Amino acid sequence: MESGPELDDAREKAESALRHMAVLGIPPTPDNFAVWFAYAGGGDPHLRRTIDILMDNGQEFDEIRNAELHARFVLPTYRTSAVDTVADDLHAVAGRLSHTVGHAGAGARRYGDALSDASDALVRSEAEDLEVRTLVSGLMQETRVMEASNAQLRERLEQSSSEIAHLRETLEETRREASTDGLTGIANRMRFERELRTAAAAAMERGATLCVLMADIDHFKVFNDTHGHAVGDQVLRLVARVLSDAVRPGDLVARYGGEEFAVVLPDCELEEAGRIAERIRDRIGHKHVVRRSSGADLGAVTLSLGVAAYRFGEPIAQAVERADTALYRAKQGGRNRVVAIDDPPTAAAGN
Ligand code: GH3
Ligand code: MG
Ligand code: MG
Repeated sequence: MESGPELDDAREKAESALRHMAVLGIPPTPDNFAVWFAYAGGGDPHLRRTIDILMDNGQEFDEIRNAELHARFVLPTYRTSAVDTVADDLHAVAGRLSHTVGHAGAGARRYGDALSDASDALVRSEAEDLEVRTLVSGLMQETRVMEASNAQLRERLEQSSSEIAHLRETLEETRREASTDGLTGIANRMRFERELRTAAAAAMERGATLCVLMADIDHFKVFNDTHGHAVGDQVLRLVARVLSDAVRPGDLVARYGGEEFAVVLPDCELEEAGRIAERIRDRIGHKHVVRRSSGADLGAVTLSLGVAAYRFGEPIAQAVERADTALYRAKQGGRNRVVAIDDPPTAAAGN
């Protein structure tokens, strides 16, 4: 059986993790255990700080929060960084090998040159000993063969190294594509959720504010049915552009789905978020949609928007839901308007 300080250390962390989970009533699933084992290990200061803040504030570790902690702190270690690390490692190994082979090649070349000099000297001295001359020239030939194969090996390694670099680029490109909406070119819902999660953690760490904005095009079905899907797509691109232009540099605009958009607004009070939403609403209302083929003016579309402030420690889904409730109220209130929600977490959402 294995033993030793490493195992003792791991056992201690595991026990500490289980103790924490028992105290907080967290189900001992593999995912939760991974989070709390990492917490006990103390290797990730962000995880440590986030959990400490949550515990200090007496926050509940319910199913949603546990899943979020896992998604934010454990999953990325496997998914994102694992691939990057492997690519980095491969790249480094190929580079080192290439360097070593280069050294060996240079050694062989020097040796070959020395043999060549010796052979020349033998010729010049008109040495009688044919056997020695044959031997030296044989050695020289072998050395040149070795040199050539070394050079070839080095070339292949360099090629592999650049292939790995290329692979890495492709990987990054794929990741970019996977988080981008194909029609509008802005972030997709997956990226929105990822960024919001990161922004929420950052806000908690820094004690900063954070808002979520949801926007939905009004009566878009009618617009589509009247003017056609292609013009509808054109409107979606227009809205994406207006949204992107209206927000601040650190904000993230995403297509949440269909004709719905979402924005992450870090370091933003609810009032400020409301002003940004109002600016977006106003600008959209003033843009005339023009049919490209005929130049016909199809009028303007309008947007309904909802904003909500992220509450310290709450699961991000809850903040999105609140922004969505605000959006729903904007629709109920007659559309083409902004509603901000600021009620306490336990209050019933009603109208
Ligand atoms: P409301 O004001 O209540 O939001 O009404 P609405 O008609 O906008 O909402 P509804 O959910 O009934 O219809 C949404 C429409 O959005 C339906 C669909 O035709 C359109 N839509 C969703 N995705 C796309 C898209 O990618 N391209 C186009 N052209 N239309 C889309
Ligand atoms: Mg709509
Ligand atoms: Mg909709």
